[in-house]
Amino acid sequence: MKKIQMVDLKGQYEKIKATVDASIQEVLDTTSYINGPAVHAFQKNLEDYLDVRHVIPCANGTDALQIAMMGLGLQQGDEVITADFTFAATVEVIALLKLTPVLVDVEPDTFNISIDAIKKAITPKTKAIVPVHLFGQAANMEEIMKIAAEHNLYVIEDNAQAIGADYKYSDGSKKKVGTIGHVSSTSFFPSKNLGCYGDGGAIFTNDDNLAHILRGIVNHGMYVRYHHDVVGVNSRLDSVQAAVLNAKLPNLDTYNHARQSAAAKYSAAFANNPKIVTPVITGEKDSHVFHQYTLRIIDGDRDGLMQHLLDKGIPCAIYYPIPLHAQKAYLDTRYREEDFTVTNQLCKEVLSLPMHTELDDEQIDFITSSVLEFLK
Ligand SMILES: *Cc1c(COP(=O)(O)O)cnc(C)c1O
Repeated sequence: MKKIQMVDLKGQYEKIKATVDASIQEVLDTTSYINGPAVHAFQKNLEDYLDVRHVIPCANGTDALQIAMMGLGLQQGDEVITADFTFAATVEVIALLKLTPVLVDVEPDTFNISIDAIKKAITPKTKAIVPVHLFGQAANMEEIMKIAAEHNLYVIEDNAQAIGADYKYSDGSKKKVGTIGHVSSTSFFPSKNLGCYGDGGAIFTNDDNLAHILRGIVNHGMYVRYHHDVVGVNSRLDSVQAAVLNAKLPNLDTYNHARQSAAAKYSAAFANNPKIVTPVITGEKDSHVFHQYTLRIIDGDRDGLMQHLLDKGIPCAIYYPIPLHAQKAYLDTRYREEDFTVTNQLCKEVLSLPMHTELDDEQIDFITSSVLEFLK
């Protein structure tokens, strides 16, 4: 059996080596390393794929979130609601901009931000909601957009984990995740569903005016060369990374389907075990692109299972072990433990299994039987 990896970047690269290498070689030949043709091509390719008016490439997914918030003109003291159960980048940039993070609980089935918790957290100071499409599954955008419209709030989608997922509205129409809110951010970190070979990120919006503002912010606040109209940052996607992304974007749907297929095999194997809660898919198949395949182990021995798998050479991980509201950097006397019962529980129960585009049946069988022999 091939050695099991949490993410198999090598196996994926080998299959597309010729295309990726040629794409990188083109950048080397032109020496247009910054803002070259590869970056412009990628911007256009991604706009077409997502069916969104504007993609603004930048240096990473954390910058993308920060720049999105800067572009909306959020001011010190404005409250921004986001999920307690996510990667820290989301809350980090809120705090960095001196906005006030308001962490709220998530839903136990989808791990996504709780609609009731958002409603309870809104105050006259609330200016924005940041839903995270966690582990690859679309958050409940229809409800979130409704709440935002009622309270005049911005919605910034953190789409670092769900690029390519579809969101289906109750009337049956569909949009790509990341094109629904006022603005959204994504990451091309190597292990993400669309990963480059270094750092990369992008911001998406359908708002022409906001797109113009964002393009200046990523480039030192310049709209005309050497005229700095606003305080900006230096955040660029470089041409080599864009070349990799141009080679990989045509495979994104195939990659996401490979993840979904591995997830379906895992879930089928675990279906009858009362100690395991498998991931719930709330929409159609393409509403969840399985950035992570995350179980809840409800017999109290998640850590024992993890050690058992590691001992057998099966990588696995806890995303995420500590709720953000309990992290030293984000402590706030306003938080009350009883408002975070779901996140607190999830942090004790979740376990993510290997998830990538190259898992084969032999590996999946070995992983599932190893889990089941421990939880029998
Ligand atoms: C990966 C990730 C980010 C940050 O992306 P980087 O490119 O690593 O800066 C932000 N939010 C979420 C939910 C992520 O998973």
